[in-house]
Order: sequence, then C-alpha cells, then structure tokens
Amino acid sequence: MADNYRNEEKLKSYIRTIPDFPSAGIQFRDITTLIGDGDGFKLAVDTMAEMASDVEYNVVAGAESRGFIFGAPLAYNEGKPFVLIRKKGKLPAETVEMSYDLEYGQATIEMHKDSVKKGDKVLIVDDLIATGGTTEAMIKLVESLGAEVAAVVVIIELPDLKGREKISGYKLYSAVRYSGD
Ligand code: AMP
Repeated sequence: MADNYRNEEKLKSYIRTIPDFPSAGIQFRDITTLIGDGDGFKLAVDTMAEMASDVEYNVVAGAESRGFIFGAPLAYNEGKPFVLIRKKGKLPAETVEMSYDLEYGQATIEMHKDSVKKGDKVLIVDDLIATGGTTEAMIKLVESLGAEVAAVVVIIELPDLKGREKISGYKLYSAVRYSGD
C-alpha cells in the first residue's frame, strides 16, 4: 500500500545522526550505517518499493550520489530501467540541465536528453528531502524532456524545512521523519 512513514522506528535505528556536519547547527542524517547493514539496506529499498507500490511508473530516476544507492536496486527489483541524474559535467552524451539554489551558492544537475521521453512516468528516488530544492530541480528536468513525474520517494524527510510544500503538486513518499531534533 502506498503510504508514508513505513517501518519508521526500525529504519531510524540504522540511521546515524552526526551533529554539526558539514557545518555548525546541521544534524547530518548519515545513511552509511543504514546501507552498511544488510538487513537495514534491504529494509530501506523494500520500504521504498512498498511505498511506491500503488504508483504507476515505468522508469526510475535517481540523483547522484545517494539517490543511486537506493534507486538502482529498486529499479532492478522491479525490472525497470534506471536513469541517472548527475552533477554537471559527468554525463557524456547530449544533456539538459537545471540549476537550483543551495544554502550557499548554486548547483546544476543534468540528465541525458534521450534518458526519458514523452509518455514516460518517472519515479524519482533520493535519500533525503530537506528544503526540496534538489527534488524540485529533478522534477523540472524530467518534465523538460516531456516525461511525467509519477511520484517522489525518499527514505528521510525533514518536515521543518518544508520540502513537501515546495513540491506540493506531486506525490511524495518518505519513510522516516526527523523534526525539531
Ligand atoms: P534539499 O535540496 O535541501 O532538499 O537537500 C537535499 C539533499 O541534501 C539531500 O539529497 C541530502 O543528500 C542532502 N542533505 C540535506 N540536509 C541533510 C541532512 N540534514 N542530513 C543529510 N543529508 C542532507
């Protein structure tokens, strides 16, 4: 069934929080301890697939680099293609790009022009949604190629940063929330 906050406490037990990384005041939610445990990694990918089980999609797209970690096994398990969304300058063929604001400065992400097409229904996968800036840029990229965003699925949501509101026109599934701590 497609719903949010599945297996939340169990998944949280595998995620490590590092205070003040990469800068003072940031609580960094570290998924290396989640994927570094076989049961944790499997639970994470399976939970994402379950949350997206009612979503109709034919392509999975993931953002470099942590989106690859969860997106590729999800696509493989479902027998669906996996599309790379990468930082500017990494993809070899013709690309489209989208720039977006970070806390300090800007970032640019790219997709191959032929990676999705009109009529495709794309499931976007990432590790975490904070402000939603990255997610919004991924949505715009996919749509610029004429494809449709079927849903966004992440492991972690930071509700205080209101990413869900930024992409309010789209389905967002997250397994774990961290608020106010
Ligand atoms: P945003 O564009 O603000 O939604 O940030 C999205 C990306 O930044 C995510 O894909 C994460 O990889 C990373 N990120 C932002 N905040 C955190 C955090 N507190 N802990 C771990 N990663 C973070």
